[in-house]
Amino acid sequence: MNELVQLIENEQLLDETTQQGLHRRLAALSPAESPRLGTGVVQIYLRSLAWQDGVLFGVARYGLEAFEHGDDAVAEGARVLFVTAGHRPADTSLGALRLAEQSPAQPWVATAELAVENARALHDLFPWTRPVSLREQTTTIGMGDRLGIATAGHIRAARQFDVSPVLAQQSVRENDFIGRTFDDVVADATWGVFQEGYRNGYGADGDHLKTIGAIDVALGASMPMITLDLTEVMRPEVAEWDNTEVDTAFAELDETFRSRVETEYAGQQFHLGSAVEISFSAAEAKRCAVMYGPALAFSREVNDHLDAATGGAYDLEISIDETTTPTLPAHHLFIARELNHRGVIVNSLAPRFIGDFQKAIDYIGDIPEFETQFRVHCLIARENGHYKVSVHSGSDKFSVYPIVGRETGMRLHLKTSGTSWLEAIKTIAIHDPALYRRIHTFAVSYYPTALTFYHITADFDAIPPLDSVSDAELIQYLEDANARQMLHISYGGILQDKTLRPALYASLHHFEEEYAEIIRAHFEKHIGLLGATRV
Ligand SMILES: [Zn+2]
Repeated sequence: MNELVQLIENEQLLDETTQQGLHRRLAALSPAESPRLGTGVVQIYLRSLAWQDGVLFGVARYGLEAFEHGDDAVAEGARVLFVTAGHRPADTSLGALRLAEQSPAQPWVATAELAVENARALHDLFPWTRPVSLREQTTTIGMGDRLGIATAGHIRAARQFDVSPVLAQQSVRENDFIGRTFDDVVADATWGVFQEGYRNGYGADGDHLKTIGAIDVALGASMPMITLDLTEVMRPEVAEWDNTEVDTAFAELDETFRSRVETEYAGQQFHLGSAVEISFSAAEAKRCAVMYGPALAFSREVNDHLDAATGGAYDLEISIDETTTPTLPAHHLFIARELNHRGVIVNSLAPRFIGDFQKAIDYIGDIPEFETQFRVHCLIARENGHYKVSVHSGSDKFSVYPIVGRETGMRLHLKTSGTSWLEAIKTIAIHDPALYRRIHTFAVSYYPTALTFYHITADFDAIPPLDSVSDAELIQYLEDANARQMLHISYGGILQDKTLRPALYASLHHFEEEYAEIIRAHFEKHIGLLGATRV
């Protein structure tokens, strides 16, 4: 064991024999030394090994026996951070880590839970584990992870391409469904990043936030990206007003704003590229001012708040996609110019595009018409600050990815979320058919409740009955748009179920490597179809 101590203290690479030695040492800890590590460590993640000041840090994983107590907390705490050195290191080498257990023997070994406080401590010990602003990065891919265990697969896909991943990304609504906080979301991504040894930098997105209060919670959780959802400050009803109503409301706006709208927009044409012209009648210019005035003012307030709170290291995404009608190019142009005028630093902007971007299935709509309009949105972005065009509900839109990649010139944010959940269900369908059947049965009874939260057009009656499908064919449900949507919208109910939740985590823990590889392949398909450069 002294040889191992020496290697650790000299920060030498662990060859295979030494790795096995370390593994044996950890696995052979007596229960008195380490009740956790002493029983059932099955894997040390080699990519996680990181030295600092003669101390070796890494992540270890327990076997499935740990779950057979049926304890939810154990199922989700199936990995642990271990710290080892020849002798107990100085406190400064351990930062603010809260150690759970320490062995007095040589080499000294301690463990720490993969908890929120320890993730924060890790940010300080290894700054590359902390989320960063990706404002300078051209292509960013939002990889929402509802379960908190998909990061390894996400990283393996992102590593293949010239893209930057946003590995932590949740909305308040999604968190509420499954009982997570922004702190949990960032911590889960942090452990995934450390486990995979990913040092290229990643983003964290407080998604669809509507208030300064919610933004502060996300900032407090070290999320540098804020997606500001303007739904509640935009006034879509103004689109239906007649000109007299618009005139009355317009007259109440701030005078400098009014005069700018009258001189810069009313009766003006804007040329985008060589072939596109957008013009505003006086009435339409006033309508835009009334519709978007409060939203623009709020965007400025949020921008200033972010600037002050972060010292400028933030990625602001403006989201106007949660509306019932597509964003007219003229309205996008108005918003973009007015945000610029107010000094709002737009990292990305999400219009609502034509057609249907339903969750976890391909684009529904007229693809040539999508291409025509999408090109105009890209031109507006390019000529008004060259912010990234953001595509929400972006997962599985395979038929339009080539257009999205080409027209944005890869200056783009693609936001995905539910698809990583469905890939988890796919993993279970392949490797744990009995559990898949329980989840499917639950979803069949639960989806009517879930439908109150989601707009989808699935035909649930067309889903083949479960008893007509053999285990080997269960994966076909994940290729069926109707079943995909049923499984997608039911995630909140499934994860709140007291028996399904621990069973699902235990299964995905057991098939962790399979899940990571399924995710990797799925995201390579996404990013590849966009046309990203392989590295
Ligand atoms: Zn959205």
